[in-house]
This record gives sequence, C-alpha cells and structure tokens, in this order.
Amino acid sequence: MRRAASIQLHPEALRHNLAVARRLAPGVSMWAVIKAEGYGHGLFWAAEALAGASDGLAVSQIGEARALREAGFDGALLVLQGPHDAGDVRACHELGLEPVIHEAAQLGHLDAVPVRLPTVWIKLNTGMNRLGFDPLDAEGVTRRLRAAGHGALGLHWMTHLACADEPEHPQNARQLERFVAAASPLPGHASVANSAALFAGWGRASGLDPERVCWARPGIMLYGAHPASVPADAPPEGPQADLRPAMTVQAPIIAVQPLEPGSTVGYGATWTAAAPGRAGIVAMGYADGYPRHAPSGTPVRVGDRICPLIGRVSMDMLAVDLTDCPQAKVGDPVTLWGEGLPVERVARAAGTISYELLTRVADRLQPAR
Ligand SMILES: *Cc1c(COP(=O)(O)O)cnc(C)c1O
Repeated sequence: MRRAASIQLHPEALRHNLAVARRLAPGVSMWAVIKAEGYGHGLFWAAEALAGASDGLAVSQIGEARALREAGFDGALLVLQGPHDAGDVRACHELGLEPVIHEAAQLGHLDAVPVRLPTVWIKLNTGMNRLGFDPLDAEGVTRRLRAAGHGALGLHWMTHLACADEPEHPQNARQLERFVAAASPLPGHASVANSAALFAGWGRASGLDPERVCWARPGIMLYGAHPASVPADAPPEGPQADLRPAMTVQAPIIAVQPLEPGSTVGYGATWTAAAPGRAGIVAMGYADGYPRHAPSGTPVRVGDRICPLIGRVSMDMLAVDLTDCPQAKVGDPVTLWGEGLPVERVARAAGTISYELLTRVADRLQPAR
C-alpha cells in the first residue's frame, strides 16, 4: 500500500467518453479540449490517449500547442486564446496551428508579421462577454482577414455559451440565435458546443445549414465528469451514467481514532461526535488539492461505502467518520473521487465544480511519467 495520496489515470476512459460525445452529436467533428494540463491529468497523457480518436486537440495557449508539436503530435491543433503577440502569429504559422481570433488587438498582431495563416477561427461574442467580436462585425473581420491573405483553407466561426449547463436558461436561445444569424451568411465551419451544450443537444446549432461542417469542443466530459451541477446524492442518469472517470484519487488511512460522544475532530473543533464511533485519518489534504472548504458530510468512499468527511481539512490529512465501516483499518485505501465516487458529487458538496478539483490536483500525486 502506498503511504501517500496518489492518482490513477484511465486512458481508455477518455476514448470511451469521446465516443459518448460522438453519440450525442452524430456527424459533428470533435476538438478534444486538453487545456490546463489536460484538466489536471497531464497534457501529454491526454494527447496520447485522444490522438487518433478525436479530430483535433484544443488548448488555450500557443505554448501548450508548441509543446505538443515538439512531442510529435502532428494532428489539428486549435488554440482557444489565439495569438497574444506577433511572435505567437509566427508560431501559429510555423507550427501549423489553428488560432482563434477574438479581439481587435489580434488583428494588429496578424498585420505585424508577413505570414498568412491558412485556417483561422473567428470567435463571436454572442452574450457571454468574455471573448469574441460583436456579431455585427463578423463580416468586417472576414474582409480584413481575407484582404491580408489569411484563411486560404477557411475562416471558421465559433461562440461559447454562458449557461449551457442550465439548458432551460433563456440566455442559451438568445446566444444560439445570434450566432446562427451572424454565421449563416458567411462560409466556414461552425462551433458552439462544449460538454454541457453537447448534453443539451446543441452539437449542431439548429438553424444552421445541415450541410455545414460543425465542430464541438468537449472538455470536462472527456475526463468523465458531467458538466451540470448535480445534487451530491443524485443517482447518475441518462448519458451521464455512461461517462467513466479518467482519474481516481486515493489515499490510505494512516490512523484511526476512537470517538466518545462529545469528542471533536480536527482544527477548530468544528465537528462533534454524537455517539461512540471512529474517525479515520486519511493522508490527503489541501496541499494535495483536496478543497479545504469541503464541509463535514462531503462524500468519501471507504471500501464499498460512502462515508462523510468530518471536521476541517488539514494540509496533509482529512478525517472521515468510520462509524458505518467497522472493518476499515490503517493502511486501507480510500477514494476521494474517481471510480465509485463521481468527482462532480464531491465538487457539489464542497461548493465548487469538478473542473476546479481536477485541475488542482497537486503535482506530488501525479504518477511518474
Ligand atoms: C474550456 C473550453 C471548452 C470545453 O468546455 P467543457 O465545459 O470542459 O466541455 C470549450 N470551448 C471553449 C472556448 C473553452 O474555453
């Protein structure tokens, strides 16, 4: 048994989950999003698991794309934040990247170097107000890029939905409508859907020409987490039930404390035993990436049971109530999330999202690679 917290990665889960994404949007091409170190699983690990299975890989930064090229990945690469300066434009050209252009300053970067980019994605801000041009400027941006000789292979269209994890939210219909209105008269591929939008059925935005090439951009679902926030105790259902976790985080019990009624556990004595019981001390804390703000009651899997976290999370340790696990003993591994305990349930209980838990797993947990 390992003495410390560790993660196991399941590459076949990534490919399985990509197949789920494809079933949700038949005929739609897939940019597998592996930004932020493959959502905490490792950039190269994710690229290796998905290359060949996805139609391309998407990252945020040119630097990530460069690292993938240097590692030998020669497939399609989308750079979601696009060039930050003229040097980045040159890199896009040399490395054969497909940058996203979302801001007027980037048009200046393009003008500053004598290269022509064959494929450019243009991001439209349809209401999220994060990245993207005003849809009313779509045609003007197209003209400007064409005049400078960019887009020989295509100028493509993209937007991002603010509320796709709440499919009924009226913002979705507004954004989809704006996107379709702006992109319809202009040639090029179209891309709207992240994981949540795929689950909502928007892999191909309705209203777009059915012949149009569409791309989705699944991220979190590839790693096995459902994008919608679900109650901690909700049984999985629908396509969510078919996702498999790509990461399992485990740590051993390193001590067991008998508790009397009135015993408290951990810093601040925030949890008090109501009955005789046992606290299992687990070698996983906030320095390992477990959220310190996870309250008592956050689920932890011990054997085949879910036991509640009790007391405050420490730097290298946390405590679980072992009252319902009389056999649990020092040396037994517990699962913090992953197989048998979906990360989104832990996230929900801790008042955060699966994305944050996955991307914050500490380096010291990573398997040697
Ligand atoms: C991160 C990101 C995605 C992937 O989103 P998920 O919710 O993880 O599926 C898609 N598109 C853009 C623009 C992104 O930044």
